[in-house]
Amino acid sequence: MPGSGPCLLCGTSAEPTVEHIIPRTLWKRFGIDPDRPDLARFRTTLCNRHNEATSKLHVRSDMMKLIETGELVTRKTLDHLSDWAIWVTLLFALERGSGVLGPEASRELLLRRFDTDRAGPPKGFRVYAAKVASYVEPADPRTVPYVLALQSDSRITLDAAGEPNGFTIREGPINASESIGLGKLVLLVVGLSFPSGPDHNERLDEAAAQVGLERIHPPGRTLPTLTPASVNMTDISKVFTVLPIGADPSLLPKGLQNLFG
Ligand SMILES: [Zn+2]
Repeated sequence: MPGSGPCLLCGTSAEPTVEHIIPRTLWKRFGIDPDRPDLARFRTTLCNRHNEATSKLHVRSDMMKLIETGELVTRKTLDHLSDWAIWVTLLFALERGSGVLGPEASRELLLRRFDTDRAGPPKGFRVYAAKVASYVEPADPRTVPYVLALQSDSRITLDAAGEPNGFTIREGPINASESIGLGKLVLLVVGLSFPSGPDHNERLDEAAAQVGLERIHPPGRTLPTLTPASVNMTDISKVFTVLPIGADPSLLPKGLQNLFG
């Protein structure tokens, strides 16, 4: 039950509180009752101290306006938005038990972030966004996902030089990315992947662009346009995967491409 038991982050049983990973005010702005039973998966238990620390993420009114209306696209609101998206998805993933990092790594980063309030976004995370004009049917034929070798994925085996050289195929707690659709925006948070070549990051951006997304983190030289787009959440959530079967291997490190190419 959210609001009872140990804190998701530090494990203390003292002063348990309900943490609304997606803030109540945001649900209310969309006319949704934040206490609806089916929204329970967006709630967890944090101790009072960690609840206060995480609530600072949600008090950025210009960023909330950007989520709600799609307007107010500035460097600052986009930076706040990517910071918000990263920590919210890590919290959500830790509560659920799967994410772009395993539970231990997620917890460590979250504790560092919320105990010091100085830690920046985790290394190598990329955040993409689209402003939604309309939600449309999935692409037909369906989008072929790109398989990524995530640096946090213990299924990937490394050679003596630390280069990926194999996969152990089993279910793991790792996803390549997390998608959130909220208000006027869709967000995709992508974990740090082993590079496929010198143009790896550009190719990640191109893959995301195929489903209507623009990169907002790390920031580019120019502001993303966030032109209203027709998007499909399934296409967005499946553009990156960690499962090689049926996926495009071209964004894998060369040592793994040979296994699946
Ligand atoms: Zn705590």
